[in-house]
Amino acid sequence: MSVPVLTAVAWPYANGPRHIGHVSGFGVPSDVFSRYQRMVGNRVLMVSGTDEHGTPIQVQADAEGTTPRELVDRYSRVIQDDLVGLGLSYDLFTRTSTDNHHRVTQDLFTALWDNGYVRTEKTLGAISPSTGRTLPDRYIEGTCPICGYPSARGDQCDNCGNQLDPADLINPRSRINGETPQFVETEHLLFDLPAFSKSLASWLDTRTHWRPNVLNFSRRLAEDLKPRAISRDLDWGVRIPLEGWRDAPMKRFYVWFDAVIGYLSASVEWAQRTGDPDAWKQWWCDPDAQAYYFMGKDNITFHSVMWPAILLGHNGEGDRGGEVGSFGHLNLPTEVVSSEFLTMSGSKFSTSRGTVIYVGDFLREFGPDALRYFIAVAGPENQDTDFTWDEFVRRTNFELANEWGNLVNRSVSMAAKNVGAVPEPTSPDPADEALLAQSRAAFDVVGGHLAHSRFKQAISEAMRVVGEANAYLSHQEPWKRKDDPARRDTILHTALQVVQDANTLLTPFLPHAAQKVHEALGGTGVWAAQPHREDAGTSGELGTSHSVLTGDYAGEQARWESTPIPVGRALSRPTPLFAKLDPSLGETGPSWAPIQTGE
Ligand SMILES: [Zn+2]
Repeated sequence: MSVPVLTAVAWPYANGPRHIGHVSGFGVPSDVFSRYQRMVGNRVLMVSGTDEHGTPIQVQADAEGTTPRELVDRYSRVIQDDLVGLGLSYDLFTRTSTDNHHRVTQDLFTALWDNGYVRTEKTLGAISPSTGRTLPDRYIEGTCPICGYPSARGDQCDNCGNQLDPADLINPRSRINGETPQFVETEHLLFDLPAFSKSLASWLDTRTHWRPNVLNFSRRLAEDLKPRAISRDLDWGVRIPLEGWRDAPMKRFYVWFDAVIGYLSASVEWAQRTGDPDAWKQWWCDPDAQAYYFMGKDNITFHSVMWPAILLGHNGEGDRGGEVGSFGHLNLPTEVVSSEFLTMSGSKFSTSRGTVIYVGDFLREFGPDALRYFIAVAGPENQDTDFTWDEFVRRTNFELANEWGNLVNRSVSMAAKNVGAVPEPTSPDPADEALLAQSRAAFDVVGGHLAHSRFKQAISEAMRVVGEANAYLSHQEPWKRKDDPARRDTILHTALQVVQDANTLLTPFLPHAAQKVHEALGGTGVWAAQPHREDAGTSGELGTSHSVLTGDYAGEQARWESTPIPVGRALSRPTPLFAKLDPSLGETGPSWAPIQTGE
């Protein structure tokens, strides 16, 4: 049965290019999952986009001497290039600066407001004593009252991750001119999270299949909920649709609030683009639909507590009840799939410390599948994991090139040279049967792992089949069977069948290489579809042009099954799948990369 599966991928913040730590958290795992789900015949809607509001964008635009709009236009394009280059198969990758996103955010807020889950509160806001103007959060710096970090921002501490108010900071100062801000009374909107204590806890009690670290962390958060600000004093973001707020020059929604609503707004935009404006409801309102959210661990809070609370509030299912909002009853996450951090020399990738490897640089030198493979087999699925060039080079050379690339190359080459086509098998012997049985059985095993986002186990099992096939060829030695062409052809046929099976098993991980293997086996047409960028017309407050990523992944393509390789199909000598890397790269990395330090 075909199930609607929503793949909701964390939204990259449009303040710069993405590094490989980012895409190991949200990017590659969500794409592997989506490609597998499509291959088993489920209806996947994979959505995301660039997160473009908030004070950090304004601060950076100031620093670069430009406007927030120019900045996000530039970086959303850079990020789109990275994601297309990696082959991430978004049905829609859009932006939060569209009219559609603003409207959906406002409508969802209205439901929360009407159900009484948002209240106004007078708090202290900062103004600049020298100009008398509101001083946005991001311009205020001070010592974190929770962890003591000396450079905490007005809205958040980058060291401990806690959300802050500027008035909480110890020794607050303006980043513009160093003066001490003055605090005056201002009005803010608070999302009443404590009014979801019971409903969130009982929902989390039903999420027993989650990764234990995510579930335990979420349960602890749900035991200690505090009201959370959803408005800020700034002039870049989604306007607040309330009397007296709508036209206020310095009142916008807090960026975390509008960003999580992006999953819904992107689904609505996708439906509009298909010409069936209600099509998004299959993924959001059908009780049989499933919704998987992918992110790095620093984003768990927003996906396992905040966003579910917003959905419960819209549905009228918080602890105080209410009416179902204008979108109809919306589904909560089936699962929140969080990765740990990819680190370098033991620390998080950091632009400021110069320890960063950008996706774009990586793709230009090594192409997408080597990185996708590394993230799947050695990435931070269950624990923080250090990226080293040594391990990258070793896995690329010994696993991708020697194991998989060589299996494809020698199987196809021998068949092409001796027969010129897929050879016909005769009376298979037990060794042939055993290998074929193993590769057929792997579909259930690898598929079971992928359905539960166990990527490392899934790819290891697929590569085990590759290893078995290499051992089979070494043992059977078809190149020594010139005097027995019938036996030689049976061996080569068996090997090609297992290459085809293994290629299917590896397609979610290595979609670019999978297309090449499909063609090397004499196949035609699209085996693993790739995303592309499309002009989506003009949108947004300033009417600037808007581009999105999308793709056609529903055509005749790879299916998750063992299909017999057609005897007699013409074969020619393949080109190598994976280039071997110079082993000296393992010591230093490429010249553009930061130098590794420590052990
Ligand atoms: Zn802190």
